[in-house]
Amino acid sequence: MLDDFKDNSFYKYACNLKKYYHAYIFEVDDIETSFPMILSFAKMIICKNHYTEESKCGDCNICHLIDNNTYQDLKIIEPMGASIRKEQVIELQKDLSLKSFNNTNQVYIIKEADKMNISTANSILKFIEEPQDGIYGILITTNRKALLSTIISRCILISLKTKKEEQFSLDDIENLSLFLKKLFKEKERSLAYIKQDFFHYYELREDIIKAFNIMEAILDCLIQKKYHQELVLNSNSCDIIETNLGEISLNNIINCLEKVVIYKNKLLTVLNINVNLLMDRFVIDVSEVL
Ligand SMILES: [Zn+2]
Repeated sequence: MLDDFKDNSFYKYACNLKKYYHAYIFEVDDIETSFPMILSFAKMIICKNHYTEESKCGDCNICHLIDNNTYQDLKIIEPMGASIRKEQVIELQKDLSLKSFNNTNQVYIIKEADKMNISTANSILKFIEEPQDGIYGILITTNRKALLSTIISRCILISLKTKKEEQFSLDDIENLSLFLKKLFKEKERSLAYIKQDFFHYYELREDIIKAFNIMEAILDCLIQKKYHQELVLNSNSCDIIETNLGEISLNNIINCLEKVVIYKNKLLTVLNINVNLLMDRFVIDVSEVL
């Protein structure tokens, strides 16, 4: 089954992950059409056979059971009627609190995760807040904005949406490409330049959120380019990005992208965040994974 996705940039991204985060949100155009690929990601987490861009498993006993939806350590829940009920989440947590039947990682998938009311969402939140070794969550939604911000901030967001809503100004693309270039080159030393290279252009929380959206788009563009994918940004933007960041290795791009997503979520969810501190930590965090 994984063969279907070998040209997909997410598949490649997933193969390059050194370890898995405890919870992911997949934002997709359509849940049913995206589900096979998300299920293959769950297989990567559970099946012990090594996945690379060239090789996959998909053919062991565990992978077959997952395909038939009979693998005990993979739990999938979806709305019963109009919503996901609290009892479903409680039962899920009870199941997962038992040790894995098969001595593998355990994965739970929540389809249409936006269909949880506040009280259901809060019980899943508690679960996500206190991650346990070997348990990984995947929440799927067509609209991440409908999820509790406290949930978003504790998950890695993977957007598989094909339509990006915005194009960005060339000035912004240029400013932020240069900021990232310096970060990749100077690492922690670039702390000294945050004021002139970043806060000079982006001062208020809203501006900084926009800047993180643009950095995400810049890094996405580099990944698309490396894999000869269709480019989402216009060609002038891509040229600026390529000129400044074309030399950066794919691993560094992916590591930086993960941090950009994490810090963007922090910005989105904490209203009175100290942006100076946040940017310092961002630079330090990125420097550590380069
Ligand atoms: Zn397998």
